Amino acid sequence: MGYSRDVYEQACAVLAHRRQKAEADAAELRARVCREHPEASEWERRMQAGAAKIAQIILAGGDVTAAMKQVQDENLQMQANLRELLASLGETATDFSPRYTCEKCHDTGRLEHSPCECMRALLAEFAAKRLSEISGMKLTRLSDMDLSFYSDEVLPELGRSPREHMQSVLEYCRCYGEDFHPGAESLLLFGTTGTGKTHASLAIARTVIEQGYSVIYASAQQIFHRLEKEHFGREDGDSESVLAECDLLVLDDLGTEMTTSFTTSCLYNIINLRMLADRPTVISTNLTAADWQGRYGQALTSRVLGTFQPLWFVGADIRQAKMARRLQE
Ligand SMILES: [Zn+2]
Repeated sequence: MGYSRDVYEQACAVLAHRRQKAEADAAELRARVCREHPEASEWERRMQAGAAKIAQIILAGGDVTAAMKQVQDENLQMQANLRELLASLGETATDFSPRYTCEKCHDTGRLEHSPCECMRALLAEFAAKRLSEISGMKLTRLSDMDLSFYSDEVLPELGRSPREHMQSVLEYCRCYGEDFHPGAESLLLFGTTGTGKTHASLAIARTVIEQGYSVIYASAQQIFHRLEKEHFGREDGDSESVLAECDLLVLDDLGTEMTTSFTTSCLYNIINLRMLADRPTVISTNLTAADWQGRYGQALTSRVLGTFQPLWFVGADIRQAKMARRLQE
């Protein structure tokens, strides 16, 4: 499990800002109210004195119960005074304590033994945002993908329409994302350009990220470009092991990169290491089975085609269909 460091830093920065703002607002309210209504600081002083008084009573060994009751009653009275004063001033606060966004963790993001829900929500939000920036695409959910762009005419080789077929493919992807776990199977999303593979792979990445798993999403071109730079010493980094070790690697558009013996051996290493460690990979590609052999050779082809769950993306080019629809509007 894990998010990248900058995602953590972004979430922590938001929490720190919330915390500081809540505390500064409370201090400002206290200063303002006490300046105009000095009796409020007297009530506060008496409430603080109450705690010391209880200690004194216990030490003195007198009638502790009766004395405690008196202190508590006085405290309640002071609290009520302050509450009434603040209400009469039109303030929504009922006392001078900071009003945190998250009451559970007081905007620290931490509970005793685990991260707070508010921290998890921020991490998922920033990780998804980052994914959207990296991919340059608006993130969709699998349930939001528009099936009407797929043809409803029966395709003989499928025995059903692309729309019907894609409904079950997208449902498969949705379940995969939602039930993701270490050791889940790997997926091969294949089909011609513009059939929704990138959208589906992004939506899977997003769903898995939201559950707190570490996900790397990148196009094959980006990944190999980076690996080449590192390999030939133009840049520092350890991308190969990062790619091998994340919980889910989503490799988009495989086959569009310039294939060299270097890229082929990198791809083989990464996929091999991930398989040995039972870490799933999602690949989307326009390549056909025959293309695989020619490009990546027998060893890698049989690894991927033999073990990845293939999902065929069919239908007319959705981008063209969308464009045509827009032009008609
Ligand atoms: Zn919280």
